[in-house]
Amino acid sequence: MGAGATGGPSPALSRRALLRGLTGAGVAALGVPLLGLGKRAGADPPAPPSRLRYVLVPHPDDEFDAWSLLADETDHYKVLILLTRGEHSGFADGHAIKTGHRMIVPDPRPSPGCTPSVKKAARLGAWHGFLDDMGLIDWTLGTCPRSLQIPDPVSGGPYTFDLRIGPRSARAAFDLGDGTLSPARVIGALRAVRAVRSEFPTQVEDDVVGAAYNNVAFPDAVLYHHSDHVAVQDALRSSKGGLTGPAYVRTVPSDPAVALTETMPERIYQAAMAMSAIPADPLLNPDADAYGAFQRHYGWLAFDMRSKSETAYWPTGDTAAVTPFCRTQTFSID
Ligand SMILES: [Zn+2]
Repeated sequence: MGAGATGGPSPALSRRALLRGLTGAGVAALGVPLLGLGKRAGADPPAPPSRLRYVLVPHPDDEFDAWSLLADETDHYKVLILLTRGEHSGFADGHAIKTGHRMIVPDPRPSPGCTPSVKKAARLGAWHGFLDDMGLIDWTLGTCPRSLQIPDPVSGGPYTFDLRIGPRSARAAFDLGDGTLSPARVIGALRAVRAVRSEFPTQVEDDVVGAAYNNVAFPDAVLYHHSDHVAVQDALRSSKGGLTGPAYVRTVPSDPAVALTETMPERIYQAAMAMSAIPADPLLNPDADAYGAFQRHYGWLAFDMRSKSETAYWPTGDTAAVTPFCRTQTFSID
């Protein structure tokens, strides 16, 4: 538990500390405004989402770093902004592709020595495949049938992107270069998407989410560092690209900056991460079949971040002590 959660109320207790570790319901019970966190879907009839939530994703698969703010949530029209295609990951060459066990082989299929464009296409295909599958089981995301190509207003500039649009969510896919992100580039992409928000069913902007796990300071959670993830965090902790609403940045439970803890419904987590084995632990049960959409589409990239070793599928768990792709996730609010 982080500092601020142990003592009693004090005049110095900030609003951020007050909100630490509380879900939306907990916050509401205290009479504190909900900060636009959004409602769970429950049995409510579908109503059109009224506000925009932008989600910054450095590489295909990082979206799950913030899935607890995306899944089963009715209030927001979710705009996922993929910043790079992840072509410089050590796994992007396909050397660890699994066949069988219900794993989906990426298309096109990369192989060691292939060009960056094949790696990019394979990872982008996995991204859309995962989101398509999750959209079918979570109506608050839905699918994105309409496709557009948005040119950079500056000729030859980097901010050209593919845009897919649905009634509940949209996906903007940039190609800014894996390993080359800077806060300025992240903000440039966010501004480029904001500039076309007339394409979305609502234009009211609410908040922005950094789906970018990075932890070098707190050894009770998985240690992981990537400069692109840091660039997303730094971008949201500085300018937010002109947005005035809150910025939620993924962090770890021991970080004193934690201001929000969200747990996704078990059915959503299992839809993404389920394996045929219990526990779904690739070290204990490496021969399991993949049922979750994340496991099936991204299994070829799987590794255990604790041991830094390749695994048959992604480790699963409730907390960041096991994997960043955990069911309960913590965020700072800027
Ligand atoms: Zn990443």
